[in-house]
Amino acid sequence: MRIALRAAALTVAAATLAPVASASAQVVASGTIPDTPAETAPAASASADARTVFPASVPQGAMVIGKVPPGSVVRYGGRQLRVTPYGSVVFGVGRDATGPLSVEVQAPGGAPQRAAIAVTPRDFPTEYIQGVPPKTVNPPPEIAARIEREQAQVTAARARDDERPDFAQPFQWPVQGRISGRFGNQRVYNGKKGSGHSGMDIAAPTGTPVKAPAAGVITFAAPDLYLTGGTVLLDHGHGISSNFLHLSRIDAKVGDRIAQGQVIGAVGATGRATGPHLHWGMNWFDVRIDPLLVLERAKTAP
Ligand SMILES: [Zn+2]
Repeated sequence: MRIALRAAALTVAAATLAPVASASAQVVASGTIPDTPAETAPAASASADARTVFPASVPQGAMVIGKVPPGSVVRYGGRQLRVTPYGSVVFGVGRDATGPLSVEVQAPGGAPQRAAIAVTPRDFPTEYIQGVPPKTVNPPPEIAARIEREQAQVTAARARDDERPDFAQPFQWPVQGRISGRFGNQRVYNGKKGSGHSGMDIAAPTGTPVKAPAAGVITFAAPDLYLTGGTVLLDHGHGISSNFLHLSRIDAKVGDRIAQGQVIGAVGATGRATGPHLHWGMNWFDVRIDPLLVLERAKTAP
């Protein structure tokens, strides 16, 4: 599995680009994917700057960074994507997404183009988890209402579309440890089928500092949500966010600007957890993506 993921992350072929409305459009679809566009780097040459580049294929759960001519209007998944001054855009591919994905690019003064991106399916095995507190698996009605209320707050925090390009920096592990649960795996709690695992679990002792995997702004922090316990959301810009669950301690508050590597809390076992671990989830708005793929992608950056 590890090798397969790595191979996918190394794919640098450009996506198929097709003119939408005009046969005379000039879009070059070649070159490498700008994995970590440096917003402060010297300006690229005019020809390089004008390219539209997306990966030819992406795995389910991927964070996709593409390059378009600066000033373009870009649409994907029913949204208009924010474009950095350099021309970077980002979006997420869901666990159950099937391709081809379609990205529409309208460059300034150019004809509309469409990039077609294939989606590589993944295997999501089933994990059987015993010993979860029964009241968290089958919550009574008053608790169900509380869970719904708390989920609405988290969903609202994920709706932000900040212009910070923190998502483009190579991500780092928030804690070191064994992966005890993978993204997307079908979960069965005490014999009851749950949804696909929404992030990755890293086993670590209670109290282990949790460090920001990339820079961002704290958009949510609560010490005691019913399912997720101590919960922190870190916004990396353009709709990309991280969530850290089951924390025993929170060292940041809403609005804090966080540097990569800064401690934001500590590992715990609060909420629906059978033992101390960090659950690290990532989102593109409401689309859940795989943090492990984001880490693998960082390894292939120049
Ligand atoms: Zn988890």
